[in-house]
Amino acid sequence: MASAASSTAKDDEPTEETALETARRQLQRAAAHLDVDPGVIERLHHPNQVHRVSVPLERDDGTTAVYTGYRAQHDSVRGPYKGGLRFHPDVTEDECIGLSMWMTWKCAVMDIPFGGAKGGIVVNPKDLSTDEKERLTRRFAEELRPFIGPTKDIPAPDMGTDAQTMAWFMDAYSMQEGETQAGVVTGKPPVVGGSKGRDTAPGRSVAIVAREAIDYLGWDIEDTTVAVQGFGSVGAPAARLLDDHGATVVAVSDVNGAIYDPDGLDTHDVPTHEEEPEAVMKYDAPETLSNEDLLELDVDVLIPAAIGNVLTAENASDVQADLIVEGANGPTTSAASEVFEEREIPVVPDILANAGGVTVSYFEWLQDLNHRSWSLERVHEELETEMLRAWEAVREQVEDHDVTWRDAAYMVALERVAAAHEHRGLWP
Ligand code: NAD
Repeated sequence: MASAASSTAKDDEPTEETALETARRQLQRAAAHLDVDPGVIERLHHPNQVHRVSVPLERDDGTTAVYTGYRAQHDSVRGPYKGGLRFHPDVTEDECIGLSMWMTWKCAVMDIPFGGAKGGIVVNPKDLSTDEKERLTRRFAEELRPFIGPTKDIPAPDMGTDAQTMAWFMDAYSMQEGETQAGVVTGKPPVVGGSKGRDTAPGRSVAIVAREAIDYLGWDIEDTTVAVQGFGSVGAPAARLLDDHGATVVAVSDVNGAIYDPDGLDTHDVPTHEEEPEAVMKYDAPETLSNEDLLELDVDVLIPAAIGNVLTAENASDVQADLIVEGANGPTTSAASEVFEEREIPVVPDILANAGGVTVSYFEWLQDLNHRSWSLERVHEELETEMLRAWEAVREQVEDHDVTWRDAAYMVALERVAAAHEHRGLWP
């Protein structure tokens, strides 16, 4: 992520912005296009609250280790806070604040009644046994208990955490409440209140938005070539759905490299990260490429869906795609965004494109509060409706204000958040 990039760069190298710097700069850019009370903008520069907790863990060998955990809660004017919990050695307070701001915009652009939050523990989960991870998660839930809850702040999985982590978290929270509170987290296994379709939702939304963008540009999807970096929860469903819609997916990759077939890959046959981790390169394809080469392929649509900061000042001029749809969070640096703007290459931003994840998390929360389970068909239909609604709102801003897709998405979000602040007012 951005903050990790800056912390590892040498002093004489240009550093990427941190997540917090990016979030604040995006807020300023969007505010410049809108007539919003400067007092509201000033409030939105700051998180409402940041909780820092110490999380003691009894290791398997009987020793005690203490980890630092955070929960940044940016803004709750439109509803309870919502956002992921990551277990990663690079988690910092500032990164949590920056990512919590992104969550505010992501929820608002989707018109979901949640505000933004993000949290995590500074730990490498690969250094922990499954039992240690469970104890750490349960203790973290206990430390955060005063600040979270189904109507206050609803965490979700993120880097280094998964559906099992959310099940432990929900169980630990519920045990102290004296009743099952499935709505305290989303991204749970369906058997304990998770939603069908949550796992593929961010990739599905990327495919829906890419399909709409292809249509908007007047292209025929049957004649459209696509390259996807990353073949995990986001990249694989996105590639497979676009393949199903008739697009030709010529390249996909994992951390080890990319496979390439100019006639199109059978994306349903390539193993996803979940089906068999890091197995993309084992697939029998005509050519292999590096991840760097994949980003510079001469394709119509490029979908970076692996990690942040892969499209940079160094490679933006060499990108040959005519449309970029951001599957990962923050794959395009600010400098690269400027190059794409100059080159008039549309970049559909992460806060819109991969928002299917938080949208189906919202559906999960609704199902939990109502003690109902939706069919997969219903989840897909409602996600399609919500994505098209958000796409239309952003498209209108692009057309009305002649701005980039990223600025348009932030403007839609900021307008909604600011209007809520203006109606509620500042008390006292
Ligand atoms: P994942 O772990 O399921 O898959 C990641 C894929 O990227 C794997 O194929 C992996 O091999 C590959 N990869 C890892 N490091 C790479 C590298 N350095 N270069 C190229 N490929 C690499 O992860 P995911 O859940 O699909 O998340 C991908 C991105 O999407 C992240 O930025 C994440 O924050 C974002 N995102 C995820 C969700 C979600 O709910 N899963 C929602 C919104 C956004």
